[in-house]
Amino acid sequence: MSRVWNFSAGPAAIPTAVLERAQRELLDWNGSGASVMELSHRGKLFIALAQQAEADLRELMGIPNDYAVLFLQGGATQHFAQIPMNLAGEGDSADYIVNGHWGEKAANEAAPYLRVNIAASSKAEQYLRLPPRESWQLDPGAAYVHYTPNETIHGVEYRDIPDVGEVPLVADFSSNILSEPLDVSRFGLIYAGAQKNIGPSGLVVMVIRRDLLQRASRPMAKIFRYAEQAANDSMLNTPNTWGWYLAGLTFQWLKEQGGVAAMAERNRTKAELLYQAIDGSSGYYRNPVDVPARSRMNVPFTLHDSALDADFLKESDAAGLIGLKGHKALGGMRASLYNAVPVEAVEALVGFMKDFAARHG
Ligand code: PMP
Repeated sequence: MSRVWNFSAGPAAIPTAVLERAQRELLDWNGSGASVMELSHRGKLFIALAQQAEADLRELMGIPNDYAVLFLQGGATQHFAQIPMNLAGEGDSADYIVNGHWGEKAANEAAPYLRVNIAASSKAEQYLRLPPRESWQLDPGAAYVHYTPNETIHGVEYRDIPDVGEVPLVADFSSNILSEPLDVSRFGLIYAGAQKNIGPSGLVVMVIRRDLLQRASRPMAKIFRYAEQAANDSMLNTPNTWGWYLAGLTFQWLKEQGGVAAMAERNRTKAELLYQAIDGSSGYYRNPVDVPARSRMNVPFTLHDSALDADFLKESDAAGLIGLKGHKALGGMRASLYNAVPVEAVEALVGFMKDFAARHG
């Protein structure tokens, strides 16, 4: 069986070279005679792996020393709740920018822990555009400002880091982390579920300014406290060792590819190819998102006649192009173009789309 081109939104494509290496090492990792999944997280070999993964991520993202890197569990969703628990005390408020489904969910999940102020929202515009920074009604006394730089379902992406003054900026980078160079020093906290640009699900990578670790003032179990995780090298309990290992391999692969600058170039090429194919199809395919807000990572599109959707999915699948069904909230199609999706995959998709349009009129 050969590998297909995978446009899934997440869990998503993992670089073939990473999977091949994991396959080679599956039964005997690092001369141990055992799988990485079978070894103690407290052993020398795994601790070296964890340190290397952190060092590689620091190099790739240019993470300053006054930021801690955590490898956590619970998915991004658990951290929608844990972030307010850790960054805000009783009676505090935080500003939320809601520019898609995930930002809305983050605000809802934070509500039991603080006063949520929706400082801007594009819900009334079906999330087809981004609330411009000038429209944000920020509270200078907020514990933090939360936003979602890339909305995976609605296909909108902020390309500039918003200036929010002295209030820490918290960003859910689940679907665009490592996709281009980023000035980490502009953020208080960056977090991402791994299952798009980092590796398998079940792992969350967090980069947090160390002074913010000291904020958590309310009573909570140690396991929820980021300061405890930082003090214990993210090994307060048994971590997701397999996910951590694959993340480490992905970081090494990214470095071999030329790092995030090379990724940015490739991601731009891929997004341009697909948006040109959509916009140049004389309305056969449509992406309704305001052009400057279009995501490079997730491209939702519809066919001019939704009665053709089932054929499009059946035929694309048969052509070795998978994961194109749109999110149920929007219908239609969605192609996710994460780092592990090569330019050839997008060329194959664009070729298929032209051919499909020619055959189905
Ligand atoms: N935030 C964003 C931007 C996402 O795309 C997703 C998942 N698709 C989540 C949060 C939720 O992640 P998880 O399923 O890991 O909780």
